[in-house]
Amino acid sequence: TPPPIETEALIIGAGPAGLFLAFQLGLQEVACHLVDVLPEPGGQCAALYPDKPIYDLPGLPVCSGRELAERLLQQLRPFNPPLHLGQLVSSVQRQPDGRWLVRSNGQNNGPNNIQAWLAPTVFIAAGVGAFVPRKETLPELEPFEHRTPAQVCYHDLPPEAALATAKHIVVHGGDAAAVELALELAQESAQHATHSRITLLHRSERLQIEPPLQAALDRALAAQTLQLVLGQPVGLVCGADADPAGAALQALLLDTPGGGQATLPCDLLLPRLGLSPKLGPLADWGLALQRKLLPVDSATMATAEPGLYAVGDINHYPGKRKLIVCAFHEATLAAFAAAAQLRPGQRQLLQYTTTSPRLQQLLGVG
Ligand code: FAD
Repeated sequence: TPPPIETEALIIGAGPAGLFLAFQLGLQEVACHLVDVLPEPGGQCAALYPDKPIYDLPGLPVCSGRELAERLLQQLRPFNPPLHLGQLVSSVQRQPDGRWLVRSNGQNNGPNNIQAWLAPTVFIAAGVGAFVPRKETLPELEPFEHRTPAQVCYHDLPPEAALATAKHIVVHGGDAAAVELALELAQESAQHATHSRITLLHRSERLQIEPPLQAALDRALAAQTLQLVLGQPVGLVCGADADPAGAALQALLLDTPGGGQATLPCDLLLPRLGLSPKLGPLADWGLALQRKLLPVDSATMATAEPGLYAVGDINHYPGKRKLIVCAFHEATLAAFAAAAQLRPGQRQLLQYTTTSPRLQQLLGVG
Protein backbone atom coordinates (compact mmCIF):
# COMPACT_ATOMS: atom_id res chain seq x y z
CA THR A 1 0.00 0.00 0.00
CA PRO A 2 1.42 3.44 -0.87
CA PRO A 3 1.66 5.95 2.01
CA PRO A 4 -1.61 7.82 2.56
CA ILE A 5 -2.11 11.17 0.84
CA GLU A 6 -2.44 13.84 3.52
CA THR A 7 -5.10 16.45 2.83
CA GLU A 8 -7.37 18.79 4.79
CA ALA A 9 -10.54 17.27 3.34
CA LEU A 10 -11.56 14.14 1.46
CA ILE A 11 -14.86 13.88 -0.40
CA ILE A 12 -16.22 10.37 -1.03
CA GLY A 13 -18.46 10.59 -4.10
CA ALA A 14 -18.17 12.90 -7.11
CA GLY A 15 -21.89 13.32 -7.79
CA PRO A 16 -23.51 16.78 -7.79
CA ALA A 17 -23.21 17.01 -3.98
CA GLY A 18 -19.51 16.10 -3.94
CA LEU A 19 -18.59 18.33 -6.89
CA PHE A 20 -20.34 21.42 -5.52
CA LEU A 21 -18.90 20.73 -2.07
CA ALA A 22 -15.39 20.76 -3.57
CA PHE A 23 -16.19 24.20 -5.04
CA GLN A 24 -17.48 25.51 -1.71
CA LEU A 25 -14.42 24.14 0.10
CA GLY A 26 -12.31 25.97 -2.47
CA LEU A 27 -14.02 29.24 -1.54
CA GLN A 28 -13.20 28.44 2.09
CA GLU A 29 -9.55 27.80 1.09
CA VAL A 30 -9.79 24.20 2.28
CA ALA A 31 -7.72 21.82 0.13
CA CYS A 32 -9.58 18.66 -0.81
CA HIS A 33 -9.37 15.45 -2.83
CA LEU A 34 -12.36 13.69 -4.44
CA VAL A 35 -12.74 9.95 -4.90
CA ASP A 36 -15.37 7.99 -6.85
CA VAL A 37 -15.71 4.43 -8.04
CA LEU A 38 -17.06 5.50 -11.43
CA PRO A 39 -14.70 6.22 -14.34
CA GLU A 40 -16.20 9.72 -14.72
CA PRO A 41 -17.59 12.33 -12.31
CA GLY A 42 -21.29 13.29 -12.09
CA GLY A 43 -22.87 10.54 -9.94
CA GLN A 44 -26.43 9.57 -10.86
CA CYS A 45 -26.70 12.44 -13.37
CA ALA A 46 -23.82 11.12 -15.47
CA ALA A 47 -24.32 7.39 -14.85
CA LEU A 48 -28.11 6.99 -14.87
CA TYR A 49 -29.57 9.83 -16.93
CA PRO A 50 -26.87 11.68 -18.92
CA ASP A 51 -29.25 12.66 -21.75
CA LYS A 52 -32.41 13.30 -19.74
CA PRO A 53 -33.41 16.89 -18.95
CA ILE A 54 -33.47 18.35 -15.44
CA TYR A 55 -35.95 21.24 -15.09
CA ASP A 56 -35.65 22.27 -11.44
CA LEU A 57 -32.15 23.70 -11.09
CA PRO A 58 -32.15 27.36 -10.00
CA GLY A 59 -31.52 29.71 -12.92
CA LEU A 60 -31.09 26.85 -15.42
CA PRO A 61 -34.49 26.20 -17.00
CA VAL A 62 -33.29 22.99 -18.63
CA CYS A 63 -30.03 21.06 -18.40
CA SER A 64 -29.20 17.41 -19.10
CA GLY A 65 -27.54 15.18 -16.50
CA ARG A 66 -24.29 15.18 -18.46
CA GLU A 67 -24.34 18.95 -18.93
CA LEU A 68 -24.84 19.50 -15.19
CA ALA A 69 -21.78 17.37 -14.45
CA GLU A 70 -19.77 19.31 -17.05
CA ARG A 71 -20.90 22.68 -15.66
CA LEU A 72 -20.04 21.68 -12.09
CA LEU A 73 -16.58 20.58 -13.22
CA GLN A 74 -16.10 23.84 -15.12
CA GLN A 75 -17.08 25.85 -12.02
CA LEU A 76 -14.65 23.80 -9.94
CA ARG A 77 -11.72 24.31 -12.32
CA PRO A 78 -10.10 27.27 -10.46
CA PHE A 79 -9.48 24.99 -7.49
CA ASN A 80 -8.46 21.94 -9.53
CA PRO A 81 -8.81 19.37 -6.72
CA PRO A 82 -7.30 15.94 -7.45
CA LEU A 83 -10.03 13.58 -8.65
CA HIS A 84 -9.38 9.87 -8.03
CA LEU A 85 -11.71 7.89 -10.29
CA GLY A 86 -12.26 4.13 -10.49
CA GLN A 87 -11.57 3.84 -6.74
CA LEU A 88 -14.05 2.11 -4.45
CA VAL A 89 -13.70 3.38 -0.88
CA SER A 90 -13.60 0.29 1.29
CA SER A 91 -12.88 1.61 4.78
CA VAL A 92 -12.98 4.78 6.87
CA GLN A 93 -11.18 4.54 10.20
CA ARG A 94 -10.49 7.05 12.94
CA GLN A 95 -6.79 7.35 13.83
CA PRO A 96 -5.38 8.02 17.31
CA ASP A 97 -4.62 11.64 16.28
CA GLY A 98 -8.30 12.22 15.42
CA ARG A 99 -7.81 12.18 11.67
CA TRP A 100 -9.58 9.71 9.36
CA LEU A 101 -7.78 7.07 7.33
CA VAL A 102 -9.71 6.29 4.16
CA ARG A 103 -8.74 3.35 1.97
CA SER A 104 -9.92 2.46 -1.49
CA ASN A 105 -9.47 -0.36 -3.98
CA GLY A 106 -8.88 0.40 -7.63
CA GLN A 107 -11.46 -1.18 -9.91
CA ASN A 108 -9.09 -1.54 -12.84
CA ASN A 109 -6.15 -3.87 -12.78
CA GLY A 110 -2.92 -1.94 -12.48
CA PRO A 111 -0.04 -1.14 -10.21
CA ASN A 112 -1.81 1.68 -8.32
CA ASN A 113 -4.69 -0.45 -7.23
CA ILE A 114 -4.92 0.61 -3.60
CA GLN A 115 -4.98 4.21 -2.38
CA ALA A 116 -5.26 5.81 1.03
CA TRP A 117 -5.87 9.30 2.39
CA LEU A 118 -5.43 10.84 5.83
CA ALA A 119 -7.67 13.83 6.56
CA PRO A 120 -9.12 15.68 9.55
CA THR A 121 -12.41 16.15 7.67
CA VAL A 122 -14.14 13.53 5.52
CA PHE A 123 -17.35 14.19 3.59
CA ILE A 124 -19.57 11.29 2.59
CA ALA A 125 -21.35 12.30 -0.59
CA ALA A 126 -22.08 8.71 -1.57
CA GLY A 127 -25.66 9.17 -2.85
CA VAL A 128 -27.48 5.88 -3.14
CA GLY A 129 -24.21 3.96 -2.95
CA ALA A 130 -21.25 3.10 -5.11
CA PHE A 131 -22.19 2.48 -8.72
CA VAL A 132 -20.62 -0.80 -9.70
CA PRO A 133 -21.15 -2.90 -12.83
CA ARG A 134 -23.96 -5.43 -12.53
CA LYS A 135 -22.40 -8.91 -12.41
CA GLU A 136 -23.06 -11.99 -14.51
CA THR A 137 -25.37 -14.37 -12.64
CA LEU A 138 -23.14 -17.36 -13.42
CA PRO A 139 -20.70 -17.76 -10.47
CA GLU A 140 -18.39 -20.04 -12.50
CA LEU A 141 -17.34 -17.00 -14.54
CA GLU A 142 -15.75 -15.21 -11.59
CA PRO A 143 -12.31 -16.94 -11.60
CA PHE A 144 -11.79 -15.74 -15.19
CA GLU A 145 -11.85 -12.12 -13.96
CA HIS A 146 -8.67 -12.72 -12.01
CA ARG A 147 -6.60 -14.45 -14.69
CA THR A 148 -3.69 -12.74 -16.44
CA PRO A 149 -4.82 -11.72 -18.95
CA ALA A 150 -8.40 -11.65 -17.68
CA GLN A 151 -10.99 -13.46 -19.79
CA VAL A 152 -13.94 -11.66 -18.16
CA CYS A 153 -13.60 -7.85 -17.91
CA TYR A 154 -16.27 -5.66 -16.33
CA HIS A 155 -14.47 -2.32 -16.25
CA ASP A 156 -11.78 -1.63 -18.78
CA LEU A 157 -10.76 -3.53 -21.83
CA PRO A 158 -7.91 -5.99 -21.39
CA PRO A 159 -4.48 -4.89 -22.66
CA GLU A 160 -4.13 -4.39 -26.43
CA ALA A 161 -2.15 -7.62 -26.87
CA ALA A 162 -4.80 -9.76 -25.13
CA LEU A 163 -7.50 -8.07 -27.19
CA ALA A 164 -5.64 -8.75 -30.42
CA THR A 165 -5.19 -12.47 -29.65
CA ALA A 166 -8.81 -13.08 -28.59
CA LYS A 167 -10.63 -14.98 -31.33
CA HIS A 168 -14.19 -14.76 -30.02
CA ILE A 169 -15.03 -11.55 -28.15
CA VAL A 170 -18.52 -11.44 -26.63
CA VAL A 171 -20.06 -8.19 -25.39
CA HIS A 172 -22.99 -9.09 -23.11
CA GLY A 173 -25.70 -6.44 -22.70
CA GLY A 174 -28.43 -4.53 -24.46
CA ASP A 175 -27.98 -0.84 -23.60
CA ALA A 176 -26.11 1.93 -25.41
CA ALA A 177 -22.82 1.21 -23.59
CA ALA A 178 -22.90 -2.45 -24.69
CA VAL A 179 -23.85 -1.70 -28.30
CA GLU A 180 -21.30 1.13 -28.64
CA LEU A 181 -18.52 -1.12 -27.32
CA ALA A 182 -19.49 -3.97 -29.67
CA LEU A 183 -19.54 -1.58 -32.65
CA GLU A 184 -16.18 -0.08 -31.69
CA LEU A 185 -14.58 -3.54 -31.42
CA ALA A 186 -16.17 -4.67 -34.71
CA GLN A 187 -14.77 -1.60 -36.47
CA GLU A 188 -11.31 -2.15 -35.02
CA SER A 189 -11.33 -5.83 -35.90
CA ALA A 190 -12.32 -5.01 -39.50
CA GLN A 191 -9.73 -2.19 -39.81
CA HIS A 192 -6.80 -4.08 -38.35
CA ALA A 193 -7.85 -7.45 -39.71
CA THR A 194 -7.35 -9.03 -36.27
CA HIS A 195 -9.79 -11.79 -37.27
CA SER A 196 -11.53 -11.56 -33.91
CA ARG A 197 -15.18 -12.48 -34.19
CA ILE A 198 -17.27 -9.93 -32.31
CA THR A 199 -20.64 -10.95 -30.86
CA LEU A 200 -23.26 -8.87 -29.12
CA LEU A 201 -25.13 -11.17 -26.73
CA HIS A 202 -28.50 -10.12 -25.31
CA ARG A 203 -31.45 -11.99 -23.88
CA SER A 204 -33.94 -10.58 -26.42
CA GLU A 205 -34.11 -8.65 -29.69
CA ARG A 206 -35.30 -5.53 -27.84
CA LEU A 207 -32.29 -3.32 -27.13
CA GLN A 208 -32.45 -0.16 -24.99
CA ILE A 209 -30.93 2.15 -27.61
CA GLU A 210 -31.91 5.25 -29.60
CA PRO A 211 -32.71 4.99 -33.36
CA PRO A 212 -29.32 6.34 -34.63
CA LEU A 213 -27.43 3.66 -32.67
CA GLN A 214 -29.91 1.00 -33.82
CA ALA A 215 -29.21 2.10 -37.42
CA ALA A 216 -25.44 1.80 -36.88
CA LEU A 217 -25.95 -1.65 -35.38
CA ASP A 218 -28.14 -2.74 -38.31
CA ARG A 219 -25.40 -1.62 -40.73
CA ALA A 220 -22.73 -3.62 -38.86
CA LEU A 221 -24.98 -6.70 -38.75
CA ALA A 222 -25.68 -6.42 -42.48
CA ALA A 223 -21.94 -6.04 -43.19
CA GLN A 224 -21.33 -9.06 -40.92
CA THR A 225 -18.60 -7.28 -38.97
CA LEU A 226 -20.70 -8.08 -35.90
CA GLN A 227 -23.20 -10.80 -35.01
CA LEU A 228 -26.13 -10.55 -32.61
CA VAL A 229 -26.86 -13.69 -30.58
CA LEU A 230 -29.94 -14.01 -28.36
CA GLY A 231 -29.64 -15.98 -25.15
CA GLN A 232 -28.73 -16.12 -21.48
CA PRO A 233 -25.47 -17.77 -20.29
CA VAL A 234 -26.21 -20.86 -18.17
CA GLY A 235 -22.89 -22.70 -18.35
CA LEU A 236 -19.30 -22.76 -19.63
CA VAL A 237 -17.01 -24.82 -21.80
CA CYS A 238 -13.35 -24.76 -20.73
CA GLY A 239 -10.26 -26.16 -22.40
CA ALA A 240 -8.41 -29.20 -21.10
CA ASP A 241 -5.54 -28.29 -18.76
CA ALA A 242 -3.42 -30.36 -16.40
CA ASP A 243 -4.44 -27.93 -13.66
CA PRO A 244 -8.24 -27.42 -13.89
CA ALA A 245 -7.81 -24.00 -12.24
CA GLY A 246 -5.78 -22.92 -15.28
CA ALA A 247 -8.23 -24.14 -17.95
CA ALA A 248 -9.16 -21.39 -20.38
CA LEU A 249 -12.68 -20.19 -21.12
CA GLN A 250 -13.65 -21.40 -24.60
CA ALA A 251 -17.42 -21.03 -24.92
CA LEU A 252 -20.66 -20.08 -23.19
CA LEU A 253 -23.66 -22.40 -23.02
CA LEU A 254 -26.83 -20.41 -23.63
CA ASP A 255 -30.52 -20.82 -22.99
CA THR A 256 -32.10 -19.32 -26.11
CA PRO A 257 -35.43 -17.43 -26.23
CA GLY A 258 -37.15 -20.28 -28.11
CA GLY A 259 -36.51 -22.64 -25.19
CA GLY A 260 -33.47 -24.31 -26.80
CA GLN A 261 -29.76 -24.37 -25.96
CA ALA A 262 -26.77 -23.12 -27.92
CA THR A 263 -22.99 -22.97 -27.58
CA LEU A 264 -21.34 -19.61 -28.25
CA PRO A 265 -17.54 -19.65 -28.70
CA CYS A 266 -16.04 -17.08 -26.30
CA ASP A 267 -12.47 -16.53 -25.14
CA LEU A 268 -13.07 -12.95 -23.93
CA LEU A 269 -16.32 -11.91 -22.24
CA LEU A 270 -17.07 -8.22 -21.74
CA PRO A 271 -20.22 -7.97 -19.58
CA ARG A 272 -21.91 -4.56 -19.93
CA LEU A 273 -25.06 -5.20 -17.93
CA GLY A 274 -25.51 -1.69 -16.54
CA LEU A 275 -24.68 -0.25 -13.14
CA SER A 276 -26.27 -0.91 -9.80
CA PRO A 277 -25.68 1.04 -6.59
CA LYS A 278 -24.00 -0.94 -3.85
CA LEU A 279 -24.18 0.46 -0.35
CA GLY A 280 -21.96 -2.48 0.72
CA PRO A 281 -18.74 -0.71 1.70
CA LEU A 282 -20.54 2.20 3.39
CA ALA A 283 -22.55 -0.23 5.50
CA ASP A 284 -19.26 -1.84 6.61
CA TRP A 285 -17.59 1.36 7.85
CA GLY A 286 -19.11 0.99 11.31
CA LEU A 287 -21.16 4.20 11.04
CA ALA A 288 -24.59 4.54 12.60
CA LEU A 289 -26.79 4.23 9.51
CA GLN A 290 -30.53 4.62 9.88
CA ARG A 291 -32.49 2.97 7.07
CA LYS A 292 -29.34 3.10 4.93
CA LEU A 293 -28.97 6.87 5.53
CA LEU A 294 -26.58 8.89 7.69
CA PRO A 295 -28.33 11.14 10.21
CA VAL A 296 -26.77 14.63 10.32
CA ASP A 297 -27.16 17.94 12.13
CA SER A 298 -28.99 20.04 9.52
CA ALA A 299 -27.04 23.18 10.50
CA THR A 300 -23.63 21.69 9.70
CA MET A 301 -24.19 18.29 7.98
CA ALA A 302 -22.00 16.79 10.73
CA THR A 303 -22.63 13.14 11.60
CA ALA A 304 -22.29 11.83 15.15
CA GLU A 305 -18.56 11.24 14.42
CA PRO A 306 -16.35 14.35 14.82
CA GLY A 307 -14.89 15.43 11.47
CA LEU A 308 -17.23 13.23 9.46
CA TYR A 309 -19.89 15.00 7.41
CA ALA A 310 -22.56 13.71 5.01
CA VAL A 311 -24.19 15.60 2.13
CA GLY A 312 -26.64 14.81 -0.67
CA ASP A 313 -28.86 11.74 -1.05
CA ILE A 314 -27.01 9.75 1.62
CA ASN A 315 -27.87 12.01 4.58
CA HIS A 316 -31.01 12.48 6.59
CA TYR A 317 -32.43 15.24 8.82
CA PRO A 318 -35.96 16.46 9.50
CA GLY A 319 -37.41 17.86 6.27
CA LYS A 320 -34.78 16.25 4.02
CA ARG A 321 -35.60 16.14 0.29
CA LYS A 322 -33.45 14.11 -2.09
CA LEU A 323 -33.04 16.86 -4.67
CA ILE A 324 -29.96 18.37 -6.30
CA VAL A 325 -30.83 21.87 -5.10
CA CYS A 326 -30.94 20.60 -1.50
CA ALA A 327 -27.56 18.86 -1.99
CA PHE A 328 -26.07 22.22 -3.09
CA HIS A 329 -27.38 23.95 0.06
CA GLU A 330 -26.05 21.14 2.25
CA ALA A 331 -22.64 21.32 0.55
CA THR A 332 -22.45 25.06 1.30
CA LEU A 333 -23.26 24.62 5.00
CA ALA A 334 -20.87 21.66 5.32
CA ALA A 335 -18.00 23.68 3.83
CA PHE A 336 -18.56 26.50 6.33
CA ALA A 337 -18.70 23.97 9.18
CA ALA A 338 -15.50 22.23 8.07
CA ALA A 339 -13.66 25.55 7.74
CA ALA A 340 -14.72 26.40 11.31
CA GLN A 341 -13.49 22.98 12.49
CA LEU A 342 -10.16 23.30 10.69
CA ARG A 343 -9.48 26.92 11.73
CA PRO A 344 -10.87 27.20 15.26
CA GLY A 345 -10.98 30.70 16.63
CA GLN A 346 -10.85 32.30 13.18
CA ARG A 347 -13.81 34.62 12.56
CA GLN A 348 -16.00 33.44 9.67
CA LEU A 349 -17.09 36.25 7.40
CA LEU A 350 -19.86 35.86 4.88
CA GLN A 351 -18.47 37.18 1.63
CA TYR A 352 -20.12 37.54 -1.76
CA THR A 353 -18.41 36.26 -4.90
CA THR A 354 -19.81 39.35 -6.64
CA THR A 355 -17.90 41.82 -4.49
CA SER A 356 -15.19 40.04 -2.49
CA PRO A 357 -11.66 40.65 -3.89
CA ARG A 358 -10.44 37.62 -1.90
CA LEU A 359 -13.00 35.23 -3.39
CA GLN A 360 -12.44 36.69 -6.87
CA GLN A 361 -8.71 36.15 -6.50
CA LEU A 362 -9.36 32.53 -5.51
CA LEU A 363 -11.61 32.14 -8.55
CA GLY A 364 -9.03 33.77 -10.83
CA VAL A 365 -11.55 36.41 -12.00
CA GLY A 366 -11.91 40.17 -11.63
P1 FAD B 1 -25.04 10.61 -6.43
O1 FAD B 1 -25.43 11.39 -7.62
O2 FAD B 1 -25.67 9.27 -6.22
O3 FAD B 1 -23.46 10.46 -6.44
C1 FAD B 1 -22.81 9.67 -5.46
C2 FAD B 1 -21.48 9.19 -5.98
O4 FAD B 1 -20.78 8.55 -4.92
C3 FAD B 1 -21.63 8.16 -7.11
O5 FAD B 1 -20.90 8.59 -8.23
C4 FAD B 1 -21.07 6.86 -6.50
O6 FAD B 1 -20.39 6.06 -7.45
C5 FAD B 1 -20.10 7.42 -5.45
N1 FAD B 1 -19.85 6.47 -4.35
C6 FAD B 1 -20.74 5.97 -3.48
N2 FAD B 1 -20.14 5.14 -2.62
C7 FAD B 1 -18.83 5.10 -2.96
C8 FAD B 1 -17.70 4.39 -2.47
N3 FAD B 1 -17.77 3.53 -1.44
N4 FAD B 1 -16.50 4.59 -3.09
C9 FAD B 1 -16.39 5.43 -4.15
N5 FAD B 1 -17.44 6.11 -4.67
C10 FAD B 1 -18.64 5.95 -4.08
N6 FAD B 1 -32.96 15.49 -8.78
C11 FAD B 1 -33.41 16.75 -9.01
O7 FAD B 1 -33.19 17.63 -8.19
N7 FAD B 1 -34.07 17.06 -10.18
C12 FAD B 1 -34.32 16.13 -11.14
O8 FAD B 1 -34.96 16.43 -12.17
C13 FAD B 1 -33.86 14.80 -10.93
N8 FAD B 1 -34.05 13.84 -11.86
C14 FAD B 1 -33.63 12.55 -11.63
C15 FAD B 1 -33.84 11.56 -12.58
C16 FAD B 1 -33.44 10.27 -12.38
C17 FAD B 1 -33.69 9.22 -13.43
C18 FAD B 1 -32.78 9.93 -11.15
C19 FAD B 1 -32.29 8.52 -10.91
C20 FAD B 1 -32.53 10.91 -10.20
C21 FAD B 1 -32.96 12.23 -10.41
N9 FAD B 1 -32.74 13.22 -9.47
C22 FAD B 1 -33.18 14.52 -9.71
C23 FAD B 1 -32.07 12.94 -8.18
C24 FAD B 1 -30.61 13.41 -8.23
O9 FAD B 1 -29.94 12.81 -9.33
C25 FAD B 1 -29.95 13.04 -6.91
O10 FAD B 1 -30.61 13.71 -5.86
C26 FAD B 1 -28.48 13.47 -6.93
O11 FAD B 1 -27.76 12.79 -7.95
C27 FAD B 1 -27.84 13.19 -5.57
O12 FAD B 1 -26.49 13.59 -5.67
P2 FAD B 1 -25.38 12.98 -4.72
O13 FAD B 1 -24.12 13.63 -5.14
O14 FAD B 1 -25.84 13.03 -3.32
O15 FAD B 1 -25.34 11.41 -5.07
